[in-house]
Amino acid sequence: MSAIVKKRKVDLKCRAFNPEWEKYFFPERFGQAQCLICLKTVAVLKEYNMRRHWETQHQASSFASMSAAERKEAIVKLSGNLQKSTSLFRKQTTAADKVTRASYEVSRLLARRMKPFTDGDFIKECIMVVIDSLCPEKRSAFESVSLSPRTVCRRIEEMSDSVNDSL
Ligand SMILES: [Zn+2]
Repeated sequence: MSAIVKKRKVDLKCRAFNPEWEKYFFPERFGQAQCLICLKTVAVLKEYNMRRHWETQHQASSFASMSAAERKEAIVKLSGNLQKSTSLFRKQTTAADKVTRASYEVSRLLARRMKPFTDGDFIKECIMVVIDSLCPEKRSAFESVSLSPRTVCRRIEEMSDSVNDSL
């Protein structure tokens, strides 16, 4: 294993979110920390990054003059707002996510069976024939799943890259 890979592994292990950092208005969200005031995210979970952001961006704001109790209350409220807007956003993206996911899953099957990328087109043709006789009203949803040789090739490359990265 190369030194770079080793170092990255260690870095990832050491990075855990410390709930104390919420005092900088940075709760943890999906493995990142997100500023509740301006919604900027900090990818590297180090106290220094959050403190610096707080000091340079929000130290002069009304949030800074709050008492500890007021600050806590504001954090709870802002977190709630953020969660609400995220779940709204999620609902809008799920349909697109499913389409992309389906394309990845078929590409994965092709790779696992060592089929040529060009089989994606044929599989899509088969799926559409089945859809047309079973549930033609859902045709457009299936039609948007891209299985062109170029897409399949890209998906497989991406998946093998991410496997290499995690090894
Ligand atoms: Zn901020």
